[in-house]
Amino acid sequence: MSDRTIATRKRIALIAHDNKKAELIDWVYYNRGVLSRHELFATGTTGKLIEEAIDRPVKKFLSGPLGGDQQIGALVAEGKIDVLIFFWDPMASQPHDPDIKALLRLGVVWNIPMACNRATADFILTSNLIAETYESVQTDYSGYLNRKV
Ligand code: PGA
Repeated sequence: MSDRTIATRKRIALIAHDNKKAELIDWVYYNRGVLSRHELFATGTTGKLIEEAIDRPVKKFLSGPLGGDQQIGALVAEGKIDVLIFFWDPMASQPHDPDIKALLRLGVVWNIPMACNRATADFILTSNLIAETYESVQTDYSGYLNRKV
């Protein structure tokens, strides 16, 4: 499997559970300068709040529990999302727990940078790589794809 090139202008997906939305919005507002150089995607409610906070359009999907996490997961699999910032709530179970697990799994399958808390999001955004192209090394799944069934 060939590696994936992540361009300088990143396609960043942002998601926050309800108890984490204020924290994500605060982080987005604080980092609005750096984020202005990238393309933003988000689940429905998170996206609406980001648009209001930084006054710029965000590509919004369905609300997470209605399928938004799965829509973003599909784009990760297709190579159309480069970075995932996902502030999920460790203190509340969610109706769409399987979707959350599926999205985090695909982020690992396709080796994209993924932040599940503010500290990691800070490290990602302040990395030199945020402004450079990056070759994401892909796991060789040919053994799986060519398995005898
Ligand atoms: P929301 O979805 O941004 O539409 O609230 C987030 C989620 O719960 O996955």
